[in-house]
Amino acid sequence: MGSPAPRRQFLPREFIAPLLDGAAARLPLLDAPDLPWALAEAVHDPAFLARWRDGRVTRIEERALGFAWSPAVVERGLGSSGATLAATRDALSVGLGVNLGGGTHHAHAGHAEGFSFLNDVAISARWLLDSGQASRILILDLDVHQGNGTAAIFAREERVLTVSVHAQNNYPFRKEVSDLDIPLPDGTGDAAYLNALDREVAPVVAAFAPDFVYYLAGADVLEGDQLGKLALSPAGVRRRDDRVLRWAARAGLPTVTVMAGGYNRDPHALIAARLGTLDAALGAFGCAASPAGPA
Ligand SMILES: [Zn+2]
Repeated sequence: MGSPAPRRQFLPREFIAPLLDGAAARLPLLDAPDLPWALAEAVHDPAFLARWRDGRVTRIEERALGFAWSPAVVERGLGSSGATLAATRDALSVGLGVNLGGGTHHAHAGHAEGFSFLNDVAISARWLLDSGQASRILILDLDVHQGNGTAAIFAREERVLTVSVHAQNNYPFRKEVSDLDIPLPDGTGDAAYLNALDREVAPVVAAFAPDFVYYLAGADVLEGDQLGKLALSPAGVRRRDDRVLRWAARAGLPTVTVMAGGYNRDPHALIAARLGTLDAALGAFGCAASPAGPA
């Protein structure tokens, strides 16, 4: 996700069908139920949720989110967060769950920002902890923007390891402190990026020894992204996805993949990256996936 920006940042409507067709050719697409409000309240301030539910928001809050309030903003938040919850249930039952949306990692407990109203991954992670179905959760955030909301929400939660690899000189400009932050300079390419994963992220993750993984597979690390400042090649993004997902599969860790940000100038490149993430997940986990979505 990223900072408020012109409408052209989003995948044009005419490209949504090819993305869904490509996904449906790989695995069954299922609609997920909306998130119950009670689960959102376990992470977000109930007063904040009540105001947004009722449309009692200010211009300043709308500007921080990047959208004007409408009932659709609330519906999309519940739908996308419900899909991440469904993917979480899938991961528990078959090892892998996928949300074709999700990854709204800028949402804080008490405010919305950066296209993020509800923090879907934080809500599902909290549900796993509270229900006793996981006790050491890795949130590996490889979106090009720092996962500031997630970092703040779990700042004092030792059972969650927040890792963010992101462009240093990019939104959010006031960053939170994750358990591990890897800020990268503008223009970082494949070799330096993958090296950071191998040398800096892998040892910390191994030492934490998670029992559940959320992977935010942001496609905004790709060269040509309008809101990213890194320069991974399509092959580099695929190698990133393969590294993460093969490691999780080999370790036998239930894993949820969410798509997070992607605003490429070339919609075909964005679709190819998204489908590459699906292929990486299916390749790593075999054909047992049962994805939630579209969100
Ligand atoms: Zn992003």
